[in-house]
Amino acid sequence: MATATQAVPLTEHVSKYVAKTRQMLINGKWVDAASGKTFPTYNPATGDVLANVAEGDKEDINRAVTAARHAFDNGPWRKLSPGERARMIWKLADLVEKHAEEFAQLESLDNGKPLTIARVADLPGTIEMFRYMAGWATKIEGNTIPLVLQGGGKFLAYTLREPVGVVGQIIPWNFPLLMAAWKLAPALATGCCVVLKPAEQTPLTALLLGELVQEAGIPDGVVNIVPGYGETAGAALAAHDKVDKVAFTGSTEVGKLILKAAAGNLKKVSLELGGKSPNLVFNDADIDATIPGAAMAIFFNHGQCCCAGSRLYVEDKQFDKVVDGVSQLASKIRIGNGLDPSTDMGPLVSEEQLNRVCGYLESGYHEGAKAAVGGKRHGAKGYFVEPTVLVNTNEKMKVVREEIFGPVVTATPFKNIDDLVAKANDTEYGLAAGVWTKDIAKAHHVASMLRAGSVWINCYNVFDPALPFGGYKQSGWGREMGHEVLELYTEVKSVCTPIA
Ligand code: ADP
Repeated sequence: MATATQAVPLTEHVSKYVAKTRQMLINGKWVDAASGKTFPTYNPATGDVLANVAEGDKEDINRAVTAARHAFDNGPWRKLSPGERARMIWKLADLVEKHAEEFAQLESLDNGKPLTIARVADLPGTIEMFRYMAGWATKIEGNTIPLVLQGGGKFLAYTLREPVGVVGQIIPWNFPLLMAAWKLAPALATGCCVVLKPAEQTPLTALLLGELVQEAGIPDGVVNIVPGYGETAGAALAAHDKVDKVAFTGSTEVGKLILKAAAGNLKKVSLELGGKSPNLVFNDADIDATIPGAAMAIFFNHGQCCCAGSRLYVEDKQFDKVVDGVSQLASKIRIGNGLDPSTDMGPLVSEEQLNRVCGYLESGYHEGAKAAVGGKRHGAKGYFVEPTVLVNTNEKMKVVREEIFGPVVTATPFKNIDDLVAKANDTEYGLAAGVWTKDIAKAHHVASMLRAGSVWINCYNVFDPALPFGGYKQSGWGREMGHEVLELYTEVKSVCTPIA
């Protein structure tokens, strides 16, 4: 694994942005935390402090929820026509596009991901999510309903789809800007008001987005952004009794805490949680396409994807070839500072993640797994881990059962489809799966048998604003993106009246 070394120069805006303590956005104003406290966010490539940020806690969440409540109950937002809302969301997309390079640099600095990846994945995904949802703002409709019991023609009955209200949104650090867009875009399209809490590891791009929300003309209080820690700000948001719904993306463990906190006022809950996704390769697959596909399935974003293809199952005849191929590609991945254009893989997001991933590697070795490639920390500075393929694995091992959230894939051979499907589904998660075969009927048969929210056939990690994404089992509740997400942000009202 080579080390990349050259970094692109920061734009003047980004240099200035990180030099100043960042405030939080409440009711259209940039303010300090009520406590006056700040917290550092780090550059994971060096471990140095990148910027200081206002540290929101319960009181700031309360201020933000009060602002969102006011904007929803009394403010101009609900009185705007869907067309006006759509134009503001579209304008926000245009503004993000205009500032794309700044966002990409800031994301790379704060999260560690390669600038080149932020430019081609995170930014287009963010911009198109806002555009796609801007389109939906004008197409949220109810139905007219012929009543069953009342006799034909005696009643006019119809449904209205109304915004769910004030939404608390808690997002993770793996795609900080993109996750903010996945959450904000449908909330704005449906006419909700929001308190967004970015992850403490990566608050900067969500805060920069807040500036553009204002520039796009979205009224004060509609979007409030409160950075802070999960146990304080996040927990206060999930528990707040004036919040109508909480939308969360993060670990399954924290998802369960969110659910408990939400029980106080029975707010609606949607959850996009962890995964341990199987990637299934049959003997008849196009192996030349499968090998880079399987490598990308796990190593994209350093394996810090809830849907990472982290369990590779390969039919026996192709097992050695696929493991060798993925290992060779892994050995060529250039690890380095995300700002270096030649970097393929940056650091993990934090020291905590570094320790967690290395701890899993140790547990794997202890239980008998072997690294076909990689297998340890890379360098002594920053939070880098070598892309790793583990072989000699079995279903009982922690590395096969638990989400590692790092660049580590386990490879296991299989003999027949029934055995494979049972193995693939033998997990508490159900977020995604991959299937690699040239046999169309087999591909669709296996897709139908997999208990997962997304199945990619002869591809992996294909995301689109129009394609719903979410989990079966303990991978979550609800679907983000596509028109399905509109259900998460709307209430259905039935209206009927006698007409004869
Ligand atoms: P990870 O383990 O990958 O860091 P988490 O699930 O801990 O992911 O974090 C995802 C988001 O959830 C972050 O914004 C974090 O601050 C927030 N969070 C963490 N703990 C809590 C909690 N107890 N209540 C609400 N939000 C939380």
